[in-house]
Amino acid sequence: MTTNNRSFVTFRFAGMALDPIHVGTGGTRLGRVDNTIVRDPVTRIPKIPGSSIAGVMRAYTAMAKKGKYPNCAGLGQPERDGGGGHCRKTDCPVCTVFGFAKGIRSSGGFAGLAAFSDMHVLLFPVASQLGPQWITCPMALRQTNIAEFSERVDLSEQQVICRKADGAAAQPSLNLGWLLLPVKTDWPPLGEIAQKIGALGIPGYIISRLGVVSDKLFTYIVNSNLEVRTSVAIDPATGAAEEGALFTYEAMPRCTVLFWEVTCRNPKHFKIDQEVVEAVDSPDKVRDVVTHAHSYLEHLGIGGMGSRGMGRLRVLESNKPAEGDKSGKEVS
Ligand SMILES: [Zn+2]
Repeated sequence: MTTNNRSFVTFRFAGMALDPIHVGTGGTRLGRVDNTIVRDPVTRIPKIPGSSIAGVMRAYTAMAKKGKYPNCAGLGQPERDGGGGHCRKTDCPVCTVFGFAKGIRSSGGFAGLAAFSDMHVLLFPVASQLGPQWITCPMALRQTNIAEFSERVDLSEQQVICRKADGAAAQPSLNLGWLLLPVKTDWPPLGEIAQKIGALGIPGYIISRLGVVSDKLFTYIVNSNLEVRTSVAIDPATGAAEEGALFTYEAMPRCTVLFWEVTCRNPKHFKIDQEVVEAVDSPDKVRDVVTHAHSYLEHLGIGGMGSRGMGRLRVLESNKPAEGDKSGKEVS
């Protein structure tokens, strides 16, 4: 199937946290935690905003080009004399794919050919008597387009659904953290969900430890099983711990599975200052620029506390276009 004539193509990605990931709100205090992470305002589930991903992927793409586009990595604010800032060139993969800021004397900015959704929690790891189990819920599956539920699915609050073939199915009850829940196996969509999750490249050892709970219980389980760490602020002048500088911060735990989409617009449908885009010529090529930087995400990570060994994310192999994708008209 060729995607080269469509206005845009949406690609789905899943990734697994290799370290705890902290994408902070900038010091908002919540209960006993000093530095909280970003949450969806409606569901209260932690997420990584698309804008954070776009910023990080832009920097890593510039890094992957080995200094060829030194001014294109950051926010691109030009200096007062008009120097610096994004190069804005039609053959620059960073500026065409990730966009560029409005220059001082030049015309408007460009939104970029790749648009990143938020990263949502698809599967959340939690300790049980059988080792880790990966938990999801109808809301998480709907939000990540894994499963369409035509009507509101009302799962009981007091249960965890596991597949008949899996180890947990033989147990009368399973503890998720300190919650003990009866195990049920009679939920028809689960087989198909496991198959779709597998198609995203999620490893078998995770799929065989899959559990579904209600939306309400999921929110509760996620928020009560986040990593909370205590650390000490270091005075940059002396290199010693600051007086009274003990602080706590939360993070998504290691092995959380995240899902996001990258919508790649067709470069042929865009002009930059009346010129055609030269760096990329199809939605697939736009995707390739993005995926080229994925190894940096795995080694350098995303979010804060990187110096404390946090933030590495492994992108799993799957580049299939989204099923519901249609060629659409978009205006820049
Ligand atoms: Zn550039």
